[in-house]
Amino acid sequence: KVKVGVLAIQGAFIEHVHSLQKAENTLKLKKHDIEVQIMEIRTSDQLNDNLNGLIIPGGESTVMKRHFENGFLENLKDWTRLKNKFTWGTCAGLILLSNQMDGGNSELQIGGVDITCSRNAYGRQINSFESPLHLLDSQLQNIAGNNTCLGIFIRAPKIKSVDSQSVNVLCHLSAASHENNAVDEPVAVCQENIMVSTFHPELSGDTCWHEYFILQAAVRKSFQA
Ligand code: GLN
Repeated sequence: KVKVGVLAIQGAFIEHVHSLQKAENTLKLKKHDIEVQIMEIRTSDQLNDNLNGLIIPGGESTVMKRHFENGFLENLKDWTRLKNKFTWGTCAGLILLSNQMDGGNSELQIGGVDITCSRNAYGRQINSFESPLHLLDSQLQNIAGNNTCLGIFIRAPKIKSVDSQSVNVLCHLSAASHENNAVDEPVAVCQENIMVSTFHPELSGDTCWHEYFILQAAVRKSFQA
């Protein structure tokens, strides 16, 4: 059984829980022999050795940070660095997992992914948008059955730069499909056992990212911590 948790202190966590349930069913239909247990994570002690994967959802990173006291932040840092765990941050989750912030407030970061991110970089709520995205990763392409997925961007951060060779770009927002873009830009990346995306796959109805997350968490169960 693979145990996956969703950080449930604020933001779009219930949507992730529903997407994980849907992804579990899809994986079963695809004949994967995989049992998934989904948990809502609210306290530091739930973030323990039993858990194999963690989603840090979108919401408001500044509000989430207010709950990072009494060792919760330290535990998140330690847990996400373990090689036998897999973490995925969406939107506000990406902000929290970035190693560098463009223009301040880098306090109380979990970090772990060598990118520079810029909060609210596409503008305000009214500038939220949807766009087709280009999948670059072959496993994701296999799961999705093609090279595209839908990206929903809500007061989304931008990945301003990828700061290490060991960061893998999984997905692009292409210049052709979004008016504010001069060039293709990475919107989902993975570094070792931490994945981050600037958009919200839990709102698109497409389960390919959640299937990928479950499979990654399952594969790492047998790794050396
Ligand atoms: N703008 C939010 C923040 O700074 C992120 C928005 C989102 O998660 N949809 O945390």
